[in-house]
Amino acid sequence: MILEIVKYGHPALRAKGKRIEVVNEKIRKLAEDMFATMKDAEGVGLAAQQVGVPVQLCVLDTRDVPNRPSRMKIDGKEINFDDCMPLALVNPEVEKIGPLVLGGEGCLSFPGISADVARPEAVVVKAMGLDGSPIEFEAKGLLARAVQHEHDHLHGILFIDRLNKKERDRVDRDVRRIAAQNS
Ligand code: ZN
Repeated sequence: MILEIVKYGHPALRAKGKRIEVVNEKIRKLAEDMFATMKDAEGVGLAAQQVGVPVQLCVLDTRDVPNRPSRMKIDGKEINFDDCMPLALVNPEVEKIGPLVLGGEGCLSFPGISADVARPEAVVVKAMGLDGSPIEFEAKGLLARAVQHEHDHLHGILFIDRLNKKERDRVDRDVRRIAAQNS
């Protein structure tokens, strides 16, 4: 089922997500609907906050962005990240590593806006999968950026909070327009 994606101005986007204690059918159905919603909206990531449910769940799929590759390692071994997509992360913890790199980002809750955001180039992610088993991997490239963007959502942090002053000023008018339409 395709869910409605809430836009900036909606209070769910500023809510810290509740930890998920048990991955039950309800959570699996939410993840399945979020996969469908993300695909429909042609996004690379979606957090539960964005469908109005403040819990620690996000979904990712960075396959269809050939000019912005992702890399993924499990147990120190490079793996074909395509095989892990789409990916759902429950209660993710993200350790950020490496130097800051600037990259373009958009957000399905901010239609039409994109801006450059500086983030660490790599992450180590620990989370739970939809079967309740632990997941641990390292990521670089677009997947590392997307994980950090979604992890922020789960804590009520939005990409506009991470812009430098010049970028923030550049998108300010559009941000205010979206907020006015959605609050
Ligand atoms: Zn977003």
